[in-house]
Parts: sequence; C-alpha cells; structure tokens
Amino acid sequence: ADTAPDFSAHTPMMAQYLGLKADFPDTLLLYRMGDFYEVFYDDARKCHALLDITITTRGQSAGQPVVMAGVPVHALESYLAKLIKLGEAVAIAEQVGEVGAGKGPVERKVVRVVTPGTITDTELLADKQDAVLLSVSGHGRRHGLAWLSLTQGEIGLAECSDVELPAWLARLMPAEILVNREQQPAGVMRARFPVTNRPSWQFDGALGQRKLSEQLGVANLQGFNAHELTLAHAAGSALLAFAEHTQGRALTHVRSLRVQRASDLLDLPPATQRNLELVQTLRGESSPTLFSLIDTCKTGMGSRLLRQWLLHPRRDRAEATGRHDAIAALQAEGFEPLREALKSVSDVERIAARIALRQVRPRELTGLRATLQALPQLRAATPARLREAALTPPGDVLELLERAIAAEPGLLPRDGGVIADGFDAELDELRGIQQNCDGFLLDLETRERARTGIGNLRVQFNRVHGFYIEVSQGQVDKVPMDYQRRQTLKNAERYITPELKAFEDKALSAQERALAREKLLYEQVIDALITRLEPLTALGRALAGLDALAALAERATTLGWCRPEFVPHPCLEIEAGRHPVVQARLAETGGAEFMPNDCKLDARTRMLVITGPNMGGKSTFMRQVALIALLAAIGSYVPATSCRLGPMDAIHTRIGAADDLANAQSTFMLEMTEGAAILHAASDQSLVLMDEIGRGTSTFDGLALASAIASHLHDRTRAFTLFATHYFELTEFPTKHPMAQNWHVSAVESGEDIVFLHELQPGPASRSYGVQVARLAGMPASLVRQARATLEALEARQNAADDQFDLFAAPPAPPALPEPSALVQTLDGIDPDALSPREALEALYKLKAIA
Ligand code: ADP
Repeated sequence: ADTAPDFSAHTPMMAQYLGLKADFPDTLLLYRMGDFYEVFYDDARKCHALLDITITTRGQSAGQPVVMAGVPVHALESYLAKLIKLGEAVAIAEQVGEVGAGKGPVERKVVRVVTPGTITDTELLADKQDAVLLSVSGHGRRHGLAWLSLTQGEIGLAECSDVELPAWLARLMPAEILVNREQQPAGVMRARFPVTNRPSWQFDGALGQRKLSEQLGVANLQGFNAHELTLAHAAGSALLAFAEHTQGRALTHVRSLRVQRASDLLDLPPATQRNLELVQTLRGESSPTLFSLIDTCKTGMGSRLLRQWLLHPRRDRAEATGRHDAIAALQAEGFEPLREALKSVSDVERIAARIALRQVRPRELTGLRATLQALPQLRAATPARLREAALTPPGDVLELLERAIAAEPGLLPRDGGVIADGFDAELDELRGIQQNCDGFLLDLETRERARTGIGNLRVQFNRVHGFYIEVSQGQVDKVPMDYQRRQTLKNAERYITPELKAFEDKALSAQERALAREKLLYEQVIDALITRLEPLTALGRALAGLDALAALAERATTLGWCRPEFVPHPCLEIEAGRHPVVQARLAETGGAEFMPNDCKLDARTRMLVITGPNMGGKSTFMRQVALIALLAAIGSYVPATSCRLGPMDAIHTRIGAADDLANAQSTFMLEMTEGAAILHAASDQSLVLMDEIGRGTSTFDGLALASAIASHLHDRTRAFTLFATHYFELTEFPTKHPMAQNWHVSAVESGEDIVFLHELQPGPASRSYGVQVARLAGMPASLVRQARATLEALEARQNAADDQFDLFAAPPAPPALPEPSALVQTLDGIDPDALSPREALEALYKLKAIA
C-alpha cells in the first residue's frame, strides 16, 4: 500500500486540500470554500496567468505563506469554459459534509473532473461539433486508436501506422488525446492537440478487451469484427478508464462500437482537408468553407452528423447512393414541411447522453417532451421511404414527461418548481402548505390591525429575516407586549410574534421538505428514462440523419446541384462544374458570374497540365473538381450539370498558400515533403492536385523537380492528376506522355484592360502572355519591345537545346531488387522499441545463428 504523504505540519484545511490535490497532480483543483472556488500554490499561479485573476497570499501553513486565488461560485461555468478552451483539465472539490458536523474542516470530495475531451455540459460544448476524446496506444510504427464522444455514446476503434496517424488525427480532430505516460507516440506529441498523460498499466490489450466487452454487454468483440485489434483494445482500456474517472460513474449510454479501417475510407490527408477548406478556412475561420456552405441543418445533431459525413467519406458507394436516393425522394415530395418540423426538435442525442450521465436539466426534458409531441407531425412530413421505426419511440416516455415535469420548470431541480402538480400527492401537500401562506398572512394582517389599531401595519417576508410585522416609527408606541423587535429601520420597526414564529417554522420546513421531495422525484424520473435510453438514442440518430439529408436536399435545390452517377471504371467526368464556395462568394458580392468548367478524365486521359496567367482560375478549377468528387462521395448532390465518377481511394493536394512565397526557404522543404508523401501514398484510383509545385526554389531545379514529379505521377502512379504550373516548358509534357493533355485558362484583352474569362480551354497558354500584361499595365513601349525580343531569343535557344536535352526522357528503370536475405527479413521483423533487454539478447542470438 502507498504510504500517505505527511501533511501534518500544515493547517487542517491545507492538509485536506493537499490530500485531495495529491490525486490530481496534473489537474487544476478547484476547492470549494463557501461562495468561492479557491486554487492554491502553483494552481493559483497558473490561474492567475490563464484567467487574469488576482493572486494573494493569506496566513501561513507549514511555515510558508499560502498563495491563493479564487473565482466566485456563480461564475464557475464561464471560467471553466475559458480553461477548457485553453486545454486545461479541472477537478472540482465540493463540500459534501455538513458544516460544523465535526471538528476540523468540512468534508470535501472531488465530484467531477472536467477535461477538454470529456465535457458534457451543454453550455461548454459547441453546438455543431462533438468533443472527441481519443486514446492512442503503441509506439514506433503501429498505433491503436480508440475514441468516444461522451455526448454520443459510440466507441470508435482503429489501428494505423505512424505514417497514417496524422491523417487520423486530422479526421477525428480530438479535443483531447490520452497517451501512455511512458511511451508517448511522437506523432501525437507533434500534433497540436491537448495531450493528457495516463499511467502505463491502463494501456493494456487484455484489460481493454475485457472492459470493452463489459461496456457493450457482450461476451467478446467478435460480433463487431474487433477481436483482433489488440493495440486498439489497449487504447480502449485507457479511454474507458479515463472517461469513467472524469464522470465519476459508469457510462451506461455507451452501447455501440464501430471499427474503422483506413482502407474503407476515402483518404483525405491533413493537407487536403486544409487546402480544400472543408471545415476551416486557410486562416482558421469556420466560414466560408464547404461545410459552412452545405450545413443548413436545423439541429445541432444534424450539423454534427453532416460534419462527420464530410470528414469520413467512404470508398464504398452504397451509403452515398442511398443518400442520393433520399435526396431525390425529398426533392420529389418536398422537404420544406419536414425542415419546418425539424425547427422545433431539440438535441435529442445530447439529451439522451445527459440522461445517462444523470446531468440532464429540467429544461432539456421539456425540450425532449416538445420533440416527442411534435413527432407525429414530423413523421407525416417525412417521405415514406425515410420513415424509420426509430421515429416512433415507446409512448411511455412522453406520457411520463407530460405527467412529471412542470410546463415551465425552473432551471435547476434544487430551485424547485420542476415537478408538475398532481404527479405526487406528498409534494402537492407540502406545496399546499406554502400556498396557504398567503391566505394566512392576509388574515393575520387584518387581525393585528384590528387588535393594535395600527392602520398601516403590514405582515411581510424576506429571505434574510423571514416573516415579520412592520410598523412605521410614528406608531411604535401602540405596539402590544407580545411583539418582539427583530430589526430597526430608519422609518419603521420590524417585529415577530409567537404566532408568526410558529407559522414561519412550519412554512419553512414545508418548503425545505418540498425541495427535497422534488429532488428525489426528479432522480426517479431520470431512473425511469434511463431504462428507455436505447430508443431515445436511436431517435436522436434518426432525427440527425433526416436533418442532414433534408439540408443536402435543400442545398441541391437552392443551388441547382445535380445527382452524380457512380460508374465502376476509371472516370471523372464533370459538365459545367462550379466551385460552390467561390460561386457563393461571387453571388454575395454581386460580382461577375461564376464561369462553369468541364473536366474529363478516364483510363486514357489521366493528367491535365493547366497553364495560364495568375488569377486566371487554375486553383479554383482544380479545387472544384476535388470538392465535387468529395461531395459525391459523401452522398450529396454536386455543383455541376452532370457528373460521373469511377472508384476513388484518396484526394491528395499539394497547394502552396499565397504567403508561402514570403518564406521561400522552408516552403521548398515543405513542398518537397508534401510532394514526396503524395507520391508514396497515391494510387491509380487517387485524385491528385498539384498547384505550382517547384515554385519555392530557383527556376531550374524547380522545373526539373516539377517535371520529374509529373512523370512519376503519369508513368508509375497513374493517378488522376490536375497539374497547374507556371513553367511554360511543361506544356511540352503531353507530347511525350500520351495520358496527359494541355489545358489553359483563358483571358482576353479588352481595350486597355485584360479580362480573365476563367474558362478552361484545350491547349497550352500563350507564351507571351506576361509581356502582354506588362504592356497593358502601362510599361513603356520601348521596354515591352525589348522584352519581346529577349523572349524570342530565349525561345530559340531553348528549341535548339531541346534537341540535345530531353527534359522528359523516361527515367532509367530501377534495377530489379534481389529477394531480401533471411537475415534482412528477420531484421525487418524486429521492432527494437518493443523489446525487453532479454528479448533483445535473444534476437541477437537468433540473428547470429542465421548469419
Ligand atoms: P490562379 O490559380 O490561376 O492564380 P485562382 O483560381 O486563384 O487563379 O482564381 C483567382 C480569382 O478568380 C478567384 O479568386 C475568383 O474570384 C476568380 N475566379 C476563378 N475561377 C473563376 C470562375 N470559374 N468564374 C468566375 N471567377 C473565377
């Protein structure tokens, strides 16, 4: 057993504090003292820095001044919100014992721990985003992942390599990551997410398998196809332990499990997610993005589901096809009545989770009640093929809520007024006593006025002094003997009489007992609701799905999008495609019309080399192709007049941000790193966008690298590639590469101006384009003439050089690799990080034996 640290030199209160703090070394501990939560020592210094609250020293403990800071109890939520946003975890110690019950300080206990990944308070959570808690086990090359959103109730499991880890992090966007204190995975530590260290023993595969099975109420994980994911089990073990630890209870609502395999998903690496501005703009704002454009959901849970669809598109197209069918049905039968009905739907998903965690507030229950009442109407407004059984939950939930919860309940059960009249006879009786108060007091007032002859005598109540009889100073001499003075004011005296005192005792105790009774009844209502958790969760999921589909249908209709068609062969064919976000921005600013463009890629044409002036629309075009492919994959209609898509496994992008140019040195390294990652990962079913690769370095090596990369993509990877470049030399590429085509964005001169048409046309851009622009910009005529002459000379030299030097000659075939020797194969199988010293020695002997 641990030997408890000795705090006996401290004051009794500080000893109690330090005892609690010992269990939460990495967590801010808020220690309740009357109307404040206090923080001490280092925690106080930290809060001072983070929250800008005043720090003081008071008294001494163990010979040292006590450094402290505090926040008022009523302001807790807003301070919590700030701390959580800053990635801090907070433990809250409340007074649980009775004040003055024994010697020494009141008993205190940590009643909850709030961390970024485990918040369930509606006030602290973003409406449209789940707080995901992720646990990562393993080290070196393989990782197990387990994640959970406490307000959702589903555990996700996956395993991945260290190369794939960043993509998983980008996809899941966890609010908090749990790692093994002794084996922190480097890939996690590099990413910018809040990390929480957990003890090593909690990351245990066997323990995890047992905990997960128990949580899901199954004998083993075979049914979920998850029984072999030992690393993920280890992560799951730490995940469940931590989630329960913070909530201080078992997670009864977490009942389902989903195994995700990277190979099931359309891969969207972090760079793609960023460059395509799916959920965040390049500047880090949440709008305008693809998500902000398509999310017209009426409920938070709808938005969260849609966001999940967007970040987890599936390779298999069955689900997407189902959603396309649903959108068609919604369009045919009209989606407005359904969307109207969805307006009054509350966040059933979160409410269900908060019921399970016993945190649900009365107003959330009335929200649930209103939703259940509106369900028949909502069902009627739903196309028949989308009416799921889940939309008809058992009627007893509604019946209970209607009987038990007041029409307009108070904010918190402890304030009373939450349980409806007529639900419980005892409560009604206690309330009756309180209500009779008014009659009694009026009666008393009349009687006392008559008895004393004081016409303006009044019987009143206030919170501090309770009941009293007030007499103005002028009349004080008429007061009878049995009046006892309670309080003196400037213009009046306040009295109490034995009769009033007796009444006060009765009334106050009735009130107290009524509140206690209400609290008990409220807990019983929650108990009853917990038995109906499954249908409630299913209802939440069904409503979220309807909301997301109705939003996609609305977008498709409002924005004139078409249904994409999936085909089994290599194909990416778009007619009159638009970039939905750029188009919306143009429409908003009342600027030019968006120019639609086609795109046609198939087995024989796999690469478009796109040239043309800056600002001509190259990036916009490439991005729109990717966005259309992605929208189709998540089951949305797409901004085009027609669209046909073959199988797709990933969207890779290498696009430089505008400000990259300012920092050319590191940009080039980044370009090459990202470029290399794409060449490794892309397949012939991938879509690759390459924007201005090679820009970050001097002309020659930039051009050489750009052409080598293009060749690699064309000859080996054979990915569908859109390759925008300012290297005019690359327009030669298609002559030697049959699967590549030249395209350019057009511009025309109009008087003194140059007008970008943003129209994609076959063939290379005109070479003298820059010189032309310079002339239009007002450069002196002599300068323009000289530039043109220089250009012609350069071209001539290039043509001559081309005959000797072929930029696009096929690279020499790599030598065939010999079969690796037994020694190498054995070595490959060894993971040095995973070996104990003894195993390492054994491995060495084994190698020696082979050699
Ligand atoms: P490039 O990559 O060729 O430098 P961009 O794609 O960044 O050019 O486009 C520059 C600007 O031109 C965009 O911000 C947008 O406002 C406008 N634009 C691009 N494509 C179109 C289009 N198809 N129709 C209308 N405007 C467009």
